[in-house]
Amino acid sequence: MSKRVLVTLTLVFLLALAGGHERVAAQTAAPTAAPTAAKTAQVSLPKIVVLATGGTIAGAAESDVQAGYKSGQVGVDQLLAAVPQAKKLANLRGEQISNIGSQDMNDEVWLKLARRISALVAMPDVDGVVITHGTDTIEETAYFLNLVVKTRKPIVLTAAMRPSTALSADGPLNFFNAVAVAANKDAAGRGVLVVVNDWIHGASSLTKTSTTAVQTFLSPVSGLIGTVAYGDAEFYRGPVGRNTQDTEFPIDTITTLPRVDIVMAYENMDGALIDAAVAAGAKGVVVAGVGNGNMTQVALEALAAQAKKGVVCVRSSRVATGRVGRDVEVDDDKYGFVASLGLNPQKSRVLLRLALTKTKDVKVIQRMFDEY
Ligand code: ASP
Repeated sequence: MSKRVLVTLTLVFLLALAGGHERVAAQTAAPTAAPTAAKTAQVSLPKIVVLATGGTIAGAAESDVQAGYKSGQVGVDQLLAAVPQAKKLANLRGEQISNIGSQDMNDEVWLKLARRISALVAMPDVDGVVITHGTDTIEETAYFLNLVVKTRKPIVLTAAMRPSTALSADGPLNFFNAVAVAANKDAAGRGVLVVVNDWIHGASSLTKTSTTAVQTFLSPVSGLIGTVAYGDAEFYRGPVGRNTQDTEFPIDTITTLPRVDIVMAYENMDGALIDAAVAAGAKGVVVAGVGNGNMTQVALEALAAQAKKGVVCVRSSRVATGRVGRDVEVDDDKYGFVASLGLNPQKSRVLLRLALTKTKDVKVIQRMFDEY
């Protein structure tokens, strides 16, 4: 194979990896072009910033076949160095936001992360952001960012179920795919995305469904935003609900997040944990109800009493899929409750915390649950 053909093929390969980004200006040298023209072709790759927060993707174990490991052991530079293939997709630079297991995710890291992403996407020379995160709470962080970062630029979270040291670690390909999606101009305007195990999820739809399986994330009700195979992304739909582009909760208006607790419903439930949440300072309570957001009559009355005092009470469900509708078996109008509609308890909590920074009016908050 001639040197010129080789260079041409390499450039075509780079173009394919870049997911069709419009600023990839490589020439596929015409047969008549001088060999030197192909040699000097300039490839302007998208600029992607990687923000690392920790998780199993940055985890390490003592051996490659050991179940026990520690999250958040590997720094962002090591993470980037471990996937050199990603440098063919984008100009990458990394920043360490935190290095924690996402079970330890907290408001301080959330606010820092959201502010940093907000500042980055405002820069003309940043085309997208990739965030590495633990799988335990990635759905909450993704949904939070989806609600507070105002941009059309791609913001893509990724994670791994197996630590970086594991046999068949899933992190490197997940990271590669996340960079490919962030570098893809078709990812813009779809809200915050989560890329894990070849699937592209929307922040409002995904949920973790297995404690250990690599294929843990599903978007059970509204389905996938798209798929990505070795960097080649295919998009099927837009975001569900309002998001990054038109949020009414931009991060520069948020200083603290009010306390909201989740109480799970079960057989013979009383109102003790609902009252305890309020006594601990909760301004809102989300009940992860049975079925369509139901709970015992005793718990219902305890919740109604708190709603009467001005605590905003949301009925969600402990069931993994399906919506919680208004006024189905519970008279939300009578009790002054909010129905979570398509949001699971953990995402209902995120939205309620942000909603409470604006209002305590349950009608307005129900409108927010309808729109986001
Ligand atoms: N506990 C880990 C975390 O969420 C699990 C993971 O990343 O898969 O950080």
